[in-house]
Amino acid sequence: MNLLTKNDHIIEIILSLFRWVFLLIAGSYYYFYLDGSSFGFLILFLFGLVYMAVSEFALHKTEINSSLYLFMTKVSVVFDYVAFLWLVSLTGGEGSPFFPIGYLLILHVAVYWKFSGGIIASILLGAGYTGILLLNGYPFQGEQLIAYLFDCMFLLFMGVLGGIIVSRERKMRSKNTKLEDIARKDFLTDLYNHRAFQEDLHICSKNDQPLLLVLADIDYFKSVNDRFGHLVGDDVLKQIGMVVKKELQDDVRAYRYGGEEFAFILNATNREEAKECLLRIQFVIRKLRFTADAEQFSVTMSYGTALFPQESSIDQSLRIADERLYEAKRLGRNRICWYDQQVEEGHAR
Ligand code: GH3
Ligand code: MG
Ligand code: MG
Repeated sequence: MNLLTKNDHIIEIILSLFRWVFLLIAGSYYYFYLDGSSFGFLILFLFGLVYMAVSEFALHKTEINSSLYLFMTKVSVVFDYVAFLWLVSLTGGEGSPFFPIGYLLILHVAVYWKFSGGIIASILLGAGYTGILLLNGYPFQGEQLIAYLFDCMFLLFMGVLGGIIVSRERKMRSKNTKLEDIARKDFLTDLYNHRAFQEDLHICSKNDQPLLLVLADIDYFKSVNDRFGHLVGDDVLKQIGMVVKKELQDDVRAYRYGGEEFAFILNATNREEAKECLLRIQFVIRKLRFTADAEQFSVTMSYGTALFPQESSIDQSLRIADERLYEAKRLGRNRICWYDQQVEEGHAR
């Protein structure tokens, strides 16, 4: 079972509503048609009420993918299966008005376990249904046999069709996720691109979580291209992307801002930690060694920083970071121009 998405959560809410409706219908059926006389039905009804209360709690009061949520989702499949067979048995077996609930059940399983889930659910339902008919002494002859075979056939059809539709939808979804990722990623460095940076900033501007915005630019990069060629220059960018991703992925969101410029978004709830993190970025990039034409070289970067939302709006913070980047360049490069106006020089190469 994969991790659930918001769409899956909506499906769970809809199915839960269906269960309430069926519980209501089953309750009315019990009251009006069975005159409240079936003890088994009453037990089933009360069991359904308790189950639904716990299920509603998991659905609305716990996080999607929390262990209780996932547990209840799995249990709901078993509950539905038992309740369905019980209900069909209590309401006349073959020809029960509750039989179509079985189709919903199969679709529910297919949503999570796709094609194989759909098929297995339809086979298990068919088997359970057959067992109930056998227990109730159903005559598997003549018209009754045909009606029974049709019921089983439709269960299987639902499993196959539901499984195919869900599998297709899942494939499309994973393709879309891949395409979205491609649209947000920079091909050369495999970091997120400028577009992703702007989108993330937009999202960040909506919640006031403290952030350290950083704009960074490789020093004298043109001379790397001039000395060793553009392919070596490309390789430098690529390796910077790799090392940032490998060593810092959990603490920082890194972007290729454009050309030989990078941007970083750091959580600044603890400013000292954010500072440390940027110093680590500076360190890992500076210690990278490149080889070209039998010569070893390294590169340095200049950094401009700004605090959001302490200093100003997100756009303004970006402008300030940019100004500080220019200040770091003006003061001699290979340094960080901090938000508190202090300037931190990089160590010698
Ligand atoms: P400064 O310290 O002032 O930033 O000097 P600089 O040489 O880094 O800056 P400048 O703006 O003069 O030159 C930037 C260079 O970056 C020029 C451009 O060819 C190179 N560049 C930008 N994007 C790429 C790229 O994708 N691949 C390669 N190889 N070079 C790139
Ligand atoms: Mg530049
Ligand atoms: Mg540069």
